[in-house]
This record gives sequence, C-alpha cells and structure tokens, in this order.
Amino acid sequence: MSVVSSRFRIDEREASLRQKAAGSIQRYERAKHSLAGGVSSGLRRSLRPFPLYFHSGSGSSLQDVDGTRYIDYMLGWGPVILGHAPLAVTAAVSNALSRGYTFGAQHDLEFEVAELIQKAVPCAERIAFANSGTEIVQVALRLARAYTGRPKYLKFEGHYHGWDDSVLVSYHPTGDQVRGQSPVPVGAGQRPESNAVVVEWNDRSAVERVLDEHAGEISAIICEPLLCNSGCIPAEPGFLAFLRDITRKHGVLLIFDEVITGFRLALGGAQEHYGVVPDLATFAKAVGGGMPFSVLAGSASVMDLIATGKVVHAGTLNGNPPVLAAAKATLEALAADDCEAFRRMWRLGNLLRDGIVQRLNAIGMDAVSTGGGPVFSVHFQARAPRTYRDTLLSDAALYTDFAVAMLDEGVALLQDGRWYLSAAHTEADVTSTLQAVDRVLAG
Ligand code: PMP
Repeated sequence: MSVVSSRFRIDEREASLRQKAAGSIQRYERAKHSLAGGVSSGLRRSLRPFPLYFHSGSGSSLQDVDGTRYIDYMLGWGPVILGHAPLAVTAAVSNALSRGYTFGAQHDLEFEVAELIQKAVPCAERIAFANSGTEIVQVALRLARAYTGRPKYLKFEGHYHGWDDSVLVSYHPTGDQVRGQSPVPVGAGQRPESNAVVVEWNDRSAVERVLDEHAGEISAIICEPLLCNSGCIPAEPGFLAFLRDITRKHGVLLIFDEVITGFRLALGGAQEHYGVVPDLATFAKAVGGGMPFSVLAGSASVMDLIATGKVVHAGTLNGNPPVLAAAKATLEALAADDCEAFRRMWRLGNLLRDGIVQRLNAIGMDAVSTGGGPVFSVHFQARAPRTYRDTLLSDAALYTDFAVAMLDEGVALLQDGRWYLSAAHTEADVTSTLQAVDRVLAG
C-alpha cells in the first residue's frame, strides 16, 4: 500500500510545518529555558513535530502565531464545547470580572449554577465545586471511603482520573507492564498505590471476582462511562447497568468520571445518554466552557457527609464569580432550543467520523471508529477495541503521521486518535476536513 509505505509523505509534511510555523519553533526553544519542558502540561510536549503556539481562537478555528488558521478538533482537550470565545460566555465573564474576581464568600451564581446542574444531571441531588478534574475526583473517592468505611476502590485499565498519585495508575501501561490487578504507576516519584484494584474494561467476571475477593474492602467503582482517554471505547451493551446492579448488591458506590462525557454526550452527560444513574459523578472540561471549573454531583445521602462537615471539601478559589459566570452562560447555551447543540454535534460528528473511516478503508487501510458525534476516536486497526489492551494492536505511530499530515493541511487533531466536536463546527468545516483527508490520503 503506497500511502502506508510513504507514511503520508511525513518528511515533506514535517518540513512544510517547520517552515510555516517557524514562530512556534522559536518560541518553544525560548520557553524551554524558563518553563520546565517548555509547556504547561506534560502531555502537550509530545505533540509532533513540535508544540504549536496559538494567537487566538474563534468558533471552530484556531490561529497560530504565524497567522495560519486551523480547523480545531482538539478543543483544548475537551472543554471548548461551544467553540472558542463564544460571545455570550465572554460577555458573562467580563461582566463578572468587572465586579471582582474572587470573594471567598457566597454569591448568587453559586446556587444558580448548582440549580442548572441539578436540573440537567440525573444523579445531581447535591453539588460541590472545585477547580480541576483531578481535585474533584479526590473528593468523590474520599466521600466513598467515608460513606462505606472501606479503603479501596476499583478502577479500569486505561481509564484516566487525574494526575494524583492515588489514581495515576494503570493508565497507559505498555504491553510488558500489563499485569492483572496490580496498579502500575505512570511516573517516577509516585507513592506506591495499594488501594486501587485494577481490572480490564468490559470484563464482568473480573469485576465480580474482585468484589468477592475484596469483600468489605471496596468503597467504589470508578469509570469513564465512555472510555475517552483510551480510544473512546464504549461500555458493551448492559455493562454499565451491570456495574450499577453489582455495586448496589455489594454496598459499593458507583462513580462516573464524566470529566469528558459530561455536558458533551448530552446535557445530562453519559448518565442521560446511556440511562444509568451513578451515586456520584465528576465533571470538569465542558461544564466550565474552557474556564477552570469542576463539579461533583451526587445523591443527597452521600453528599450530606460534606454538609455535616464529616468529609472535608475545601478550596480558596472554589466557585469564584468569573468561572461560575462562564459555567452558567455555557450551560444555558447548551440547553437552548431544547438542546439543539447536542443534536447538531451528534449529526455533524457522525458525518465526519464515517467520512474519515470510509476514505481510509477505500484505499485499503485498516481503520475503525469508536464513540460518536461530540467525541470519537479513529483507530488504525482492523477491529474495534473493546479493552485498553486491544488498543495496543493499533498502528499508533502511523496515526500520528496522519495527524501531522492533517495539521499541515490546516486541521488540528489530538494525536491519539481522538476527535472533539463543538457546537460551533459547521457543515462547511466537515466538508473542508474531509477534503483535507482526501489530500492527505492522495499522498
Ligand atoms: N478525569 C477524566 C476522565 C479526564 O479526562 C481528566 C482530564 N483529562 C481528568 C479526570 C483530570 O482533569 P484535570 O486535567 O482537569 O485535572
């Protein structure tokens, strides 16, 4: 296959990007002398051929410091649900900023946003706020330990729940590292984690076995209800309902980490989309429309541990006005016209996803997709993965070459196969993107 053997003319593509994006290269070299690694979050360093520097974003597009415009499917790794700089959100944030940035005290936006979330999210009897997904997952796990009086939790291989030592295990283990239930730390310096028990996604008998073997020790099962961080792998039909039933049976809490799926798959997140209601759910990304905001939602009986002060939940900047103003404007825009934004993202996202895979298959390449509409993944492999381990069979290096070639064509993609859509993407964006795919595949 000529396209594959030439790897999308990757050398020429990289040379072209080096020329077009010289301003980014210069800045990256400069930043490396002051900023550890040159970037603000570790994962951004790995973007090939080099991290781009952006000047601005508007709607579905980003403009880099050299003036090149890209159709953006990275969307800040998920939060940019309405597109970049939507007018209503910008106006709401400016208005809030003009009245003070943070009070460390109460104001109306707190209950207004909590009420909007309560209305939208099935499990949301009570709400708590923080600033990042990492933090809010810690609140959820702490609540689960306090509520059940048990120390451990079950997580699935390939699922990401933030960068705290307690959860940054068995995220993307290599083929050699994969070793059953022992949690594999991702980086150096992490405390050994003995409270996480890890099983494979979609493996019912492993979940049953762990709950039996660790009877009385497991406080919670946490999962990404759509495994967005490892190739948008869905739960197999009935698997989420199985988790719901078995957690009830064992007195274990079910936590959906909806940091990505929340306010993205539907206004009520994955729990609305799949019709399974967890005890607790964590949100960040889309809920703040691009501002640092995270939310825990859950049943009153569990969340009451915060109300009574038994469980500590704190944070200087929690619920500050500009962030809540962004959240309120974002949630209102997403709910408008009977949630038209979601119908649109599903329709355009599926059109795009199917168009990409058809084009790849038409030239004889093994390619499949998982997920859909607002967030999906394209895998360079013959069969759709059902576990994280299955994703190790895909040709990830070739996909990165594809993403680099697409960047050279003016389409910005995450390089792990994931595509995010926003409510600002248009039919014309989809058409232009598929034309870019055609050019990349033409070699
Ligand atoms: N959970 C999930 C499912 C996530 O995708 C992320 C971030 N990618 C987090 C938690 C952590 O969120 P944050 O980066 O805001 O700390």
